[in-house]
This record gives sequence, C-alpha cells and structure tokens, in this order.
Amino acid sequence: VTPVFTRALAFGDKTAIIDQNGEHTYRDLLSQSLCLSQEICRALECSSGDLKEERISFLCPNDASYVVAQWASWISGGIAVPLYKKHPARELEYVIQDSQSALVIAAEEYVGKIAPSAEKLGIPLLPLLKSHSDGSATHAAAEEGALTTCSSWKDRGAMIIYTSGTTGRPKGVLSTHENVQAVTTGLVEKWEWRKADVILHVLPLHHVHGVINKLLCPLWVGATCIMLPEFSAQMVWKKLLSSQAPRISVFMAVPSIYVKLIEYYDNHFSQPQVQDFVRAFCQENIRLMVSGSAALPVPVLEKWKSITGHTLLERYGMTEIGMALSNPLHGVRVPGSVGTPLPGVEVRIVTETLKSGARSYAIHAQGDEDSTQVTPGLEGQEGELLVKGPSVFREYWNRPKETADAFTPDGWFKTGDTAAYKNGVYWIKGRTSVDIIKNGGFKISALEVERHLLAHPHITDVAVIGPPDMVWGQRVSAVVQLRKGEMLSLKDLKDWAREIMAPYAIPSELIVVEEIPRNQMGKVNKKELLQRFYPA
Ligand code: ATP
Ligand code: MG
Repeated sequence: VTPVFTRALAFGDKTAIIDQNGEHTYRDLLSQSLCLSQEICRALECSSGDLKEERISFLCPNDASYVVAQWASWISGGIAVPLYKKHPARELEYVIQDSQSALVIAAEEYVGKIAPSAEKLGIPLLPLLKSHSDGSATHAAAEEGALTTCSSWKDRGAMIIYTSGTTGRPKGVLSTHENVQAVTTGLVEKWEWRKADVILHVLPLHHVHGVINKLLCPLWVGATCIMLPEFSAQMVWKKLLSSQAPRISVFMAVPSIYVKLIEYYDNHFSQPQVQDFVRAFCQENIRLMVSGSAALPVPVLEKWKSITGHTLLERYGMTEIGMALSNPLHGVRVPGSVGTPLPGVEVRIVTETLKSGARSYAIHAQGDEDSTQVTPGLEGQEGELLVKGPSVFREYWNRPKETADAFTPDGWFKTGDTAAYKNGVYWIKGRTSVDIIKNGGFKISALEVERHLLAHPHITDVAVIGPPDMVWGQRVSAVVQLRKGEMLSLKDLKDWAREIMAPYAIPSELIVVEEIPRNQMGKVNKKELLQRFYPA
C-alpha cells in the first residue's frame, strides 16, 4: 500500500489544486505537508511517522490547506479526522471528543471559531497559518526521509469520517490506508481517471463523496482538482462552461445539487442559442458526470440529459464501505439502478425467507458482472445488501458492540439498505429502517414512490414516510414541496397517481411544506420528519 502523498512525488510540478488562493503543485502540497507534520510532531512531542494512530482533527476551508492537513496527519502516523466548517460548536466538539483527538489543526480563518472548543476540551490547537501556503521550499531530502519512515501503511488507520446521522447519532467510521486505497483505485479503474482530468469540487470535505471520489481519486492519478469554497449554482455553471484552461472534464454531485443547477438553468438560460451552446460545450469538454449519496430521481436524470447531453452515472456507497456499486463508464447506464459491483467489491442480497438457511444469499458478485450468481427463482427479490472486500472499514471508533453487530458471523458488512438484483443490475430500494414501508402485506419502497411523485408537474421535491397505522401497520404519507404558486389536493394527487402507480403505493396522506429539510449532502432525516408530523 502506497499512500497518496508518496505517489505525489512523481507528479512534481503538475498542478494539483486550483483554489481561491491560486494554483498549488503536487510539490507544494508535499512540502507544506512535511512542514506541518513536523509541527504536529513538535506539538505532540514525538518524531515524524511515530504517532500510533493518534487522531488529529482539522478544520479547513475547501482549498489546498485541507489536503495539507490530511497529508500532514498521515505523514506523522496519525489518523485524519476532518471537521466541517459549517457545524456549530456543539457538533465540532462532539467529533473532537468522540474521536478522542490529541490535537486540533485549524486554518487561519477558523482559529477563532474553534479556539474556545479546544480550550474547553483541553486539547492543543495548532494554527495552520497562511504563510505555510507560500512555502516553495522543495525539501527534497526531507521528502525522501519522511515518506519512507513507515514501512507498512496497509493496516494503519487513515481517517475517521462520521456518518451523515440520517438514522441516528453520527458514528465515527475508521478506515485504514488499505480501505481508502481500495476505494480510490476501484474508482480510478472503473471510471478511468487519468492525469489529464480536471474535476470541479463543490462538496463538503467531511464525507467520503467529497474526500475520496472527488479529491483523492484525482490526486491519485496526478490530475487537477478545482476547489470552490462552497456550492453556488451560478459559480458551478460558470466554471463548467468556462473555456479557460484547464477545462473541466469531470463533475460529481449529490442529486439535490443537480436539482439546483437545473433550477438555475431554467431561470437563466432560456434562449435557444444559449441552450445549444450549453449542450454542445458540455458534450465536447466533459467526459463524465456522476451522481450519488442519495437516490437520483429519474426525472432529474432525464432533465439533466436534455440540458447537457450527459446521462448521469449513478453509483452507490456509504461511509463504511466507500463505494460499492456503479453504473458503467462505457455501456448502458440504467436509470434508477446503481449498476454492478466495483472492482474488488463482493455483494450479496440476503432475503428474509433465506436468512436462517445455509444458502443464505441470492446474489454473489465480485467486481465484474459475469461472476454474479442468482439463486434460481430469486431474481428481483428484495433483501438486505451485504458487502465484503478491502474497502470495508475496520471499526466504528470506540464502539465495539456496534462494530460487532454490523457484521455477519462470516464477515459480511450489513448495510441496512434494502436492494434487489434484476436485469443484470442492482436497485437500491432504500434504508430498511425508514424507507421500506410495510402496508398490509406489501413492502413499499419510499424511494420508488418518490421517483413517481417527482414526475408530477407541480411537485419539486418530496420525501415519503411511513407513519404507524392501527390497521395496516404503516401508511404511505407524502411530504411535498410545490412549484411556486401551485396548489395540490390529496384527491388530485391520487387521481393523477392512479395512472402510473400500484394502488397500495399511492399516498393516503399529503403534507405540503415550504421546503423539504435536507442536509449538505442532500439527505432527508426521515426519523425527524416522522416525529415532526406524527409525534408519538
Ligand atoms: P447514518 O449511517 O448516520 O444514519 P447515512 O447512512 O446517511 O447516515 P452515509 O454513510 O453518508 O450516512 O450515507 C450512506 C447511505 O446513503 C447509504 O446507506 C444509502 O442509504 C444512501 N445512498 C448512497 N448512495 C445512494 C444511491 N445512489 N441511491 C440510494 N441511496 C444511496
Ligand atoms: Mg448509514
């Protein structure tokens, strides 16, 4: 296992990051990381590479300083724990404390924000001053020495990323360097990342989507990452359509970002010539556009295709497993599906009827479509998705019981997501705990109901939930956000839905809200929604 920063030596003067402060070469990142790692070691009174998985929390903006803090933590032998700049003090303190961090690093602009928390928790604070970023020293000798101090990176903890907290308190997921590398190289292979690629980065850097898919993948191959301080639809369109070199070749986002980009397009790009230009430019310059982290509604996929000519590549992953399933780079991307296992990933679907039996799986694949075996008669059956492989995390930090509970006796990670395999590809039906609604004898996927409802001309966003029902177990309730100025009654919705949906899946309740509450990754906390509208 070679950590990403060791590979960076080979890319020297190539531009790694372009951010609000300018361009940073691979050599810049490396020499600044080495400087910072020396400071970390001074602060913690140890020599370089000697930390034994001490946790180092860091609060950085979306720019090169994030990479420097991450690499410096690794060079020192520590575990990188990224904090999120928009989190309030309470949330920051939860992560610092829960990860038992030995040190907090903060970029200059966040020192004031984090200092009171660090003091309160009695943890040393190391400011990452801007002057570091000017360092053009090459540190050739130091590079050689410092980067070879650790002979075995494989099993060493690399980072603790906290889950989104969609179904409970966020859990710290500890991934080793091997785990991180397995996810990175799997994606590099499947999506054919190359040195000439230029990616536009607009996602938070405390979840795997932003950290691995959008940052470590390009850095792994010597590509260039353009980092925006935060998402703005106007800015993203400006960058995507910029003819200035380097032109963007890869873009990735969560579904709610695509929705915002579409809204902006509808409001600002109404002239036919402009629309022709957008489509032609995206077709010519961009080779890959990806969606993930939450289900991509088919109407969004279709609209994006009509605007840019690109069929979004949808993939499935989670903090604990990195990325697991992906539509193909070449070949058919099936709308609503998440494709097949990534290289090195094994998946199974465990159906309820077979759970206790010896042959407890329906599907078993390893990285390529051809190895998928379907137990006769089970194709299309829903069950829990299990995952195995080098990308699967080592443990929930400091939560041995949760870690043990998350695996089957033979070492499969239980995702908690319900999935099915049909027509050669996998389909995510949602979280078993909140998205699978049991209504009478039926199991209804909230994600599928949402996909249908989004096709309604008045509905702009929707979250389907399953409140308890005395007779049926659960009801189907649709919380919707309507287009400005539109109205919708339950009767109208039902009449409309009858044409396209199974009768039992049609919502029996309708709640209209100003806005569906989503977090930065576009996820809806359905437990909270249920509590809000159906308090026990
Ligand atoms: P917590 O585990 O704290 O409840 P979380 O599961 O939302 O939060 P993440 O690890 O960030 O935290 O998200 C992983 C989840 O996101 C998956 O388990 C799955 O439910 C969902 N997900 C990711 N990609 C997709 C996709 N393409 N389609 C549907 N769901 C997806
Ligand atoms: Mg989860």
